[in-house]
Amino acid sequence: MATNRTFTMIKPDAVQENHIGGILHMIEEGGFRIVELQKLSLTSERAGQFYAVHAERPFYNDLVKYMSSGPIVAAVLEKDNAVADFRTLIGATNPAQAAEGTIRKKYAKSIEANAVHGSDSDENAQIEADFFFGK
Ligand code: UDP
Ligand code: MG
Repeated sequence: MATNRTFTMIKPDAVQENHIGGILHMIEEGGFRIVELQKLSLTSERAGQFYAVHAERPFYNDLVKYMSSGPIVAAVLEKDNAVADFRTLIGATNPAQAAEGTIRKKYAKSIEANAVHGSDSDENAQIEADFFFGK
């Protein structure tokens, strides 16, 4: 995947509270094109694989439980400078520190239930997109 793509998930809290539309609207208004889009549920095994990089962190078990607690929306997004611009659009991991106008500022409930995922590098964007949409 080129440097103009990133991967996102709308997390279970935001789906549960009917924020899919609001979040996709902010994404499109932010200049991103939705290339792939799917609503699905993760088993705890799949959620654990997705976040395997965090396996040693104290929040890992709760995170896996949370991410498999209900449906999510996975998407691939396209825009120039997609990874960095999308991290700016979503805001800080902890919504208490997220800037005004960001998705997490508007929709996140806690540092765990923070409404959306955004890839942190081009390499991970490719890996994460393939995890959901790859061959
Ligand atoms: N997370 C958590 N507690 C923490 C840090 C992170 O529950 O102290 C969760 C949160 O849902 C976060 C995810 O783990 O989005 C992955 O953490 P990361 O540091 O990669 O944050 P992100 O890249 O999502 O901003
Ligand atoms: Mg991350």
